[in-house]
Parts: sequence; structure tokens; C-alpha cells
Amino acid sequence: MTKFADLHIHTHYSDSTLSPQEVVQESIKAKLACIGITDHDCIAGVAQTQQAAEESGLEVIAGVELSSEIEGKDVHILGYFVDIVDQDFNSELSKMQEHRILRIKKMVECLNQLGMKDVDFHEVLNLTKSNAVGRPHLAAVLKEKGKVSSMAEAFTKYIGEGCPAYVPKYKQTPFEAIKLVRKAGGVAVLAHPVVTNKDELIPSFVEAGLQGLEVYYPNYSNTTIKHYLGIARKHHLAVTGGSDAHGDAKTNSYVGKAQVPYQYVIQLKELRNGKLN
Ligand code: AMP
Ligand code: FE
Ligand code: FE
Ligand code: ZN
Repeated sequence: MTKFADLHIHTHYSDSTLSPQEVVQESIKAKLACIGITDHDCIAGVAQTQQAAEESGLEVIAGVELSSEIEGKDVHILGYFVDIVDQDFNSELSKMQEHRILRIKKMVECLNQLGMKDVDFHEVLNLTKSNAVGRPHLAAVLKEKGKVSSMAEAFTKYIGEGCPAYVPKYKQTPFEAIKLVRKAGGVAVLAHPVVTNKDELIPSFVEAGLQGLEVYYPNYSNTTIKHYLGIARKHHLAVTGGSDAHGDAKTNSYVGKAQVPYQYVIQLKELRNGKLN
């Protein structure tokens, strides 16, 4: 029987509502053989998930999803098999998390100035188990307080790019994010290329050390998949895929919604080639 992997899953250490235990339960229910834990700018959920999966036979890959920005557009770089005890890597992640906290504080101040005095910074911080606080946490508080009727509305009205309470994130280019993953011994993969919508930059990412492309993602059409398989082939990139499940924080996906045959994991493992300097 072919084994399958979902290589893009978040936990409540970043902006998912699922605990590591719940992620493991959902993965077993979905009959997955392997999962990748890829929290935003955070690896605190990896060891916990590995521990929770210990007796189940489920393989848990250490991963991360690094935020970066180019030409005003968010670009997410996935890192697989990163060394979670690498000190330099951990200190870079801490810097990003400190910036995330300051950024949310500024966004709350903007909302307070817009008249939403009862939106409280600490209430937002309390929604995450680590320091990787993000806009979805703020959106959840806005919804809970009745300021918006859905999290999506929070993004379109207040906290999406260009909106009145939007504050940009830590300035890091995709090239720097790719280098960071490689320095931590990881395999660097471009996440959800349709969302990223910067195909023309893929050759420059490859030059910076990109090794893979997330071709399989919820709701990608056959045409889209074919298109990105072509790009992957052209640049000799590994192909990956995953659900980007966030529990209740993202209702259009769930653990196992996108998965790839285990052969893809073997190919990713072959790309682990030690740390670049
Ligand atoms: P942050 O990392 O704090 O900038 O938050 C980005 C995260 O917010 C993304 O990873 C998505 O999960 C979520 N997000 C971005 N745009 C939207 C949107 N329009 N509606 C709902 N969630 C969104
Ligand atoms: Fe997210
Ligand atoms: Fe992402
Ligand atoms: Zn993600």
C-alpha cells in the first residue's frame, strides 16, 4: 500500500487552533504515514508533535515556514529537516518572534485609535502558545468582540495589506529566508506558489538555494499543478505538497486535504546536504 505525507501543517505554537496531540490524532484519522510541522517563524511545536506521535508510527518531520517579503508581496519559504537545536537558527527565529510581538502591539494601537478601545494586546498574545503571534490571532479577537463578522472581514477591513491597521512584518527577503533554512541544514521549498504569485522570481530563488516547490496544495486545479510541475522540472526542484491546515483558524482546509506519496519525502531527504555557510 502506498504511504502518504501531508507536509504543511501548523500547530497552536503559531496560528493554528490545533495542539500537537490533536494534529497527531487528525493525521492518524487521515491515514497519513508522515507529516511536516511548519509553523510560522517558529519550531516550538516540532518536538511536542514528535513526542505525541512516538507510539503511533507516524513520522514527524521538523519544519518551519519563514515569512519574507519582496516587492511588497509576502513570500513563505518552507524549511524541512531544519536542525531545531541550531543556536544561530533559534536566535534568528527569536528575533522574528520579538518583531511579531511589537508589530501586533502597533496594530492594536492603530485599532484603539480607530475607536476600538477594548481590543487588548495581551488578549491577542494569549491566543498563541509561543511568541509567534500573528494577524489571525488579532482577527480572532476582533471577531470575538463583534467588530467583524468573520476573520476574513478583519483582513479586508482592518489588518490586510494596505488597510488602516496594517503594519508590515520583519523585513527579510526570500533570499535571506532561503539562506537561513540552508544554514540550519534544511531543505528550502517555496510554499503555495499561487498565493505567492511571483513565478518570475523563481529562477532567482533557485540561484539563492531554493530546492523545492509546493506543487500540491488544497484546491489547486490540474492545470495549475501541471504548470508548477513544469517549473519544478525545468529548475530541477523537488516537488512537495500539503494541506496548510490551521484547525478552526482556516476553515477551507484540514489535515490530509493535500498529500503526496511517500516517495516525495524520500526525494526531500536526499536533498539534505549539510549546512551551507
Ligand atoms: P502574519 O504572518 O501575521 O502576517 O499572518 C499571515 C497569516 O494570516 C497567513 O499565513 C494566513 O494564514 C492568514 N491570512 C492572510 N490573509 C488572510 C485573509 N484574507 N483571510 C484570512 N486569513 C488570512
Ligand atoms: Fe498561518
Ligand atoms: Fe503560508
Ligand atoms: Zn502555512
